[in-house]
Amino acid sequence: MLIHYKCPNCGSDMVFDSNTGKLKCNSCGREDDIEGFSDEFITRTFSEEDGKEYHCKNCGAVIITEAETTATTCSFCGAAVVLGDRLSGTMAPSKVIPFKISKKQAEEAFKSWCKNGLLTPKGFMTADRVKKITGMYVPFWLYDLNSRVEVNAVGTKIREYTSGDYIYTETRYYDVYRDINLDYIKVPVDASEKMNDELMDKLEPYNYTDLKEFKTPYLAGYIAEKYNYDESRMLPRAKDKIENYIQSYINSTIMGYSSVRFTNKHIDTSKKNAYYTLLPVWMVYYDYEDSEHVFAMNGQTGKVVGKPPISYKKVAAWFGGIAGFSFIILKLISIAIGGGLW
Ligand SMILES: [Zn+2]
Ligand SMILES: [Zn+2]
Repeated sequence: MLIHYKCPNCGSDMVFDSNTGKLKCNSCGREDDIEGFSDEFITRTFSEEDGKEYHCKNCGAVIITEAETTATTCSFCGAAVVLGDRLSGTMAPSKVIPFKISKKQAEEAFKSWCKNGLLTPKGFMTADRVKKITGMYVPFWLYDLNSRVEVNAVGTKIREYTSGDYIYTETRYYDVYRDINLDYIKVPVDASEKMNDELMDKLEPYNYTDLKEFKTPYLAGYIAEKYNYDESRMLPRAKDKIENYIQSYINSTIMGYSSVRFTNKHIDTSKKNAYYTLLPVWMVYYDYEDSEHVFAMNGQTGKVVGKPPISYKKVAAWFGGIAGFSFIILKLISIAIGGGLW
């Protein structure tokens, strides 16, 4: 099912506008709220056969899409179309963060990033190299996770003092026990086969206060994909992502000892919720030395990630972005049985 959003004034195709968060007609300038957009102006075309071929309502051209595509533009007339049947049932996204950065802003950001040019060889920055710029909704799973952590350790405190002719070293041993309950909310994992995981991780963090209930008009004018990997498949990656946080959290609760030796560490992480979510990304494809490179930008925050043709003489470890996500600590019971000399 092919969906067009038609302008109630002039009949042109409407697209999602990242500045206003509304549907906008680029012909006459009309804007409409997504919530109240009348069904009367939504045209739906059903495909005859396998659901891979559609005829564009505007120009009649055949729109052939890959099986993963859920939104695209007609390559002949440029009309924005959404493929409705690929967004239903188990394939229905539950949340979306709409684009906030416009195509123009993305283009300008790419150019100024080029001009900074700290990492790239001479000559690269001087030419206009943008080949194609695409606004893309990438499918993610957002996981709410809970970790139950139980830890036993032996901590020591060492004190030296002088008394008369003697120097004394006193070592006190402490039995340390921690029972920690950690809740993580919305740990993101990219669910698309095509997208480079490393690249997507570096685009984080997204700001989840803009998270909206999914509606198809958000996709109008962009490219969107559906997930290749379901939530159970991606769960281990989500668990991997929080592993370091758990370890450093445990360490942060055991402070003030000369040494700590763990005797038992039990971590049990389980899934509480998983949300199929579309996150906005601008992809800029550019040429350099006869090959194509990709520059990506977070479509909400404007954070920039790219693999430019790095000049190794210059700074190496620039791409050190780490995944960020919020976590809430619900409950922390810590019992330190201190003072007992063994
Ligand atoms: Zn119009
Ligand atoms: Zn067309």
